[in-house]
Amino acid sequence: MKLIEGKKIAEVIYKECAVSFEELKAAGHQPGLAVVLVGDDPASKAYVGSKDRKCRELGMHSVKIEKPADISQEDLLEVIKELNADEKIHGILVQMPLPDHLNEDEVILQIDPAKDVDGLHPTNLGKLAMEDPTGFAPCTPSGCQRMLIESGIETSGKNVVIVGRSLLVGKSLALLMMGKGAGANATVTVAHSRTGDLPSLCREADILVAAIGRPRFIGAEHVKEGAVVIDVGINRIEDPTAKRGSRLVGDVDFEAVSERCDAITPVPGGVGPMTIAMLMANTIRSCRMRAGI
Ligand code: NDP
Repeated sequence: MKLIEGKKIAEVIYKECAVSFEELKAAGHQPGLAVVLVGDDPASKAYVGSKDRKCRELGMHSVKIEKPADISQEDLLEVIKELNADEKIHGILVQMPLPDHLNEDEVILQIDPAKDVDGLHPTNLGKLAMEDPTGFAPCTPSGCQRMLIESGIETSGKNVVIVGRSLLVGKSLALLMMGKGAGANATVTVAHSRTGDLPSLCREADILVAAIGRPRFIGAEHVKEGAVVIDVGINRIEDPTAKRGSRLVGDVDFEAVSERCDAITPVPGGVGPMTIAMLMANTIRSCRMRAGI
């Protein structure tokens, strides 16, 4: 069984980012990312903190905007408008989920598609469906695809089953993998909570992707011998033996599944680091497009 180590593959992307960054710097440009955090959810804070840290490590301009949980929709849209107009900012990310009183779709619509490095604006989702390379694909699915490419895992003609149909992960990954080109040309099935007999459908998969949000939901009964398993899930579970009293697990029962599969991503250290790396890569690409380089 091979461990697909997202953390190591992310380093390959950061090396590419560093080369691109130097080219931009030589031409007098500095990529800039703004991350907007509303409220003080600890998990969201941790994600925003690691994005900010990575930006700084790469020498990028990083702006972290923290707003109280009771910010009005109008004021939040105003923050986005200002970032759209800010010449130093090439990427805008609004950390989701937003508090219930805010309209996430309206916020995403307000982001300039050229700065939508999270790839959630309808213009970018349309470009994803059209396979237009000038768009930005959402970071988690593009990170999953890049992991498969870098690990030398063939996708062309393979059966891919994705469990989860969110726009952020499952649906967008389906679009990427059913497209043409590297890490694609797959025959994709997307499963969800209404899918009947999920275990036997999953056992058809050469590549099984779990993006469900349920700790260790995918067991050995879902996995064909020799399959490749990508675990997108990040779930915090109680664990009295852990230092913090809790730990992170994926949507896959790693111990049971790793006995059957050929390759698997760990949690943590799998898809998570790839997501951040793709965000950095998208921001640098946005800067390049703006600079015309
Ligand atoms: P969502 O809650 O938006 O979507 C979950 C999907 O799983 C839905 O389509 C849902 O079906 C499906 N589902 C739920 N229960 C079942 C079930 N019993 N059987 C089959 N399908 C089911 O979650 P996200 O897509 O946003 O995230 C999924 C996971 O990935 C989470 O653990 C999240 O934390 C993690 N994540 C990790 C990232 C990373 O960087 N590694 C980034 C983003 C997310 P239905 O549509 O019918 O409700």
